[in-house]
Amino acid sequence: MKQETVLELRQLTHVYVNDKGASLAIEHINLKVERGEFVSLVGPSGCGKTTVLSLLAGLFPPTKGQVLLNGDQVSGPSSKVGYMLQQDYLFPWRSIKENAAIGLEINDRKTEKGLQYVDELLEELGLPDSARKYPQELSGGMRQRVALARTLATEPEVLLLDEPFSALDLHIKLQLEDLVHQTLKRLGKTAVLVTHDLAEAVAMSDRVIVLGRNPGYIRSELAIPDEIRLASPMTARKLSGFQGLFERLWTELDRDDNEGGSTGGRSQ
Ligand code: ADP
Ligand code: MG
Repeated sequence: MKQETVLELRQLTHVYVNDKGASLAIEHINLKVERGEFVSLVGPSGCGKTTVLSLLAGLFPPTKGQVLLNGDQVSGPSSKVGYMLQQDYLFPWRSIKENAAIGLEINDRKTEKGLQYVDELLEELGLPDSARKYPQELSGGMRQRVALARTLATEPEVLLLDEPFSALDLHIKLQLEDLVHQTLKRLGKTAVLVTHDLAEAVAMSDRVIVLGRNPGYIRSELAIPDEIRLASPMTARKLSGFQGLFERLWTELDRDDNEGGSTGGRSQ
């Protein structure tokens, strides 16, 4: 496979400043994500996963370092990057189709062609009869599929997913993992997923990045072998190598917890 870097983090460092003072959230994070790659970020609460995604999305500038998208510095939100969160943030007064089309509207792209693509996405994501319904008529899993359609409608190159499945019941979550995996691979999208679910990270990703905290940094990464990364998440979970990968990640994270608040003794 030809490698082409889509996203690059260079020496990314971020300090939050508020009335209580300044806190160093992440420090010297270097990462490259290739086109079509699915990368997960895992790590203990507070290690900076959401901060990294927010910086990737251009929601605010990093204190130091750079985020590059296709070699250009990210200086603000762009329609090339789509964001999907744990909460779906659907507007209750808008129909499903109007919700899914909102990104097109904001980007002044609500053309007939755009709306046709929204219909196609809703169909593909198993929501063909929901277009005229309202969010409150849909289950949590269906609403999250609408959120995915809304994110994909503007045809972003990169998708940022911050715990998008964590509020769902287990079997809905497993189905949605498969659907998201299959859809993103088919469309050739690049994705960065934040999750606290290590099995989900192994099942969905090509590569898993393990972050440590105080401040957040990249502690290690785990490349997922072809057999598992090419399988659908549901199938991957049943393959023989899966458990071993899960345990390796588990051990890495456990090590972090034992380390407590220490920031010493690491090399970056
Ligand atoms: P994660 O998503 O891995 O749980 P976050 O990126 O949310 O971690 O947070 C990283 C660190 O930055 C934490 O110590 C958190 O308390 C701090 N932090 C996050 N957001 C803010 C903010 N808006 N103001 C101040 N500190 C913040
Ligand atoms: Mg977070």
